[in-house]
Amino acid sequence: VRTIGVLTSGGDAPGMNAAIRSVVRVGSYYGLKVFGVRRGYNGLINGELEEMNARSVSEILQRGGTILQTARCLEFKEEAGVKKAVEIAKVFGLDGLVVVGGDGSFRGARDLCAAGLPTIALPGTIDNDISCSEYTVGYDTCLNTVKDAVDKIRDTAQSHERCSIIEVMGRAAGYIAIQAGIACGAEVILVPERKWSFDEDVLRPILESKSRGRKHSIIIVAEGIGGVIEMAKEIEEKTGIESRATILGHVQRGGSPTVRDRVVASEMGCKAVELLLEGKQNRIVCMQQHEIVDVDIEEGLAMKKELPQNLVDLAKKLTV
Ligand code: ADP
Repeated sequence: VRTIGVLTSGGDAPGMNAAIRSVVRVGSYYGLKVFGVRRGYNGLINGELEEMNARSVSEILQRGGTILQTARCLEFKEEAGVKKAVEIAKVFGLDGLVVVGGDGSFRGARDLCAAGLPTIALPGTIDNDISCSEYTVGYDTCLNTVKDAVDKIRDTAQSHERCSIIEVMGRAAGYIAIQAGIACGAEVILVPERKWSFDEDVLRPILESKSRGRKHSIIIVAEGIGGVIEMAKEIEEKTGIESRATILGHVQRGGSPTVRDRVVASEMGCKAVELLLEGKQNRIVCMQQHEIVDVDIEEGLAMKKELPQNLVDLAKKLTV
């Protein structure tokens, strides 16, 4: 292995730059030539590659987003697109590739391996929804952003004695919602992994709180549940408490990565390069029991990860 590439794909996440930097620096450490590929799989198909070195990744560790840009690429879902990508990789002499992204990007990485380009996948997504990994790069920064935003919303909710319903990201998963809900002392946390009913899980706690003389409350709703604007209306109608919905949106994807994201991204980037050097491919770099390990992409994609029941129980106990 003499030459490798690195790209970011799918939704961006804080810490992707730290991962790029790590791949480039560790690659340089081992004497490899490293190409950065722009705009995810699109850039590979279109030959948007540029050689990077230890200096070209200076000053990016602290930056959010991804300097290589990211994109979704429909063409790549077709066999012809993958074939084209592998041909371009050959033109640039790539012996291996590191793909930073979510599970969609990992499926692409698997297809690249099958078509002849050894590829390693690295989990970069704020959602923490990669089953084979306890942690994904970007999750901690996102949680801290949500914490800052919800703390601010609580200030105004308390002043106006309002109920605030806040939708956080996470696609079909409730990892952001459960941790942010606990960290922000939310009175109600709704996640797609658990059944809930409006009367029992939303209305009842608010009315109980009201009967104790407290009108303001914070409700955190995962994206996979949605409907926060309608929920605010219904709460206001049924409790008489003024209610407001906030959809935090893309603010959750930005910002300078936290220490945790910088360190994990650096560790995972290093692991990805070392796997390629060992001649491995079709692996997902992941965290299991706090260690950085690797699993087969297909096996990793087939795994199931549960929302930690201890956190769900804890959230309940904390809202007595
Ligand atoms: P994420 O990586 O964050 O899950 P997407 O699901 O949008 O984001 O996937 C990113 C890109 O990965 C897609 O635009 C596509 O090029 C590629 N991809 C997604 N799903 C597949 C698939 N099933 N097979 C091959 N490539 C895929």
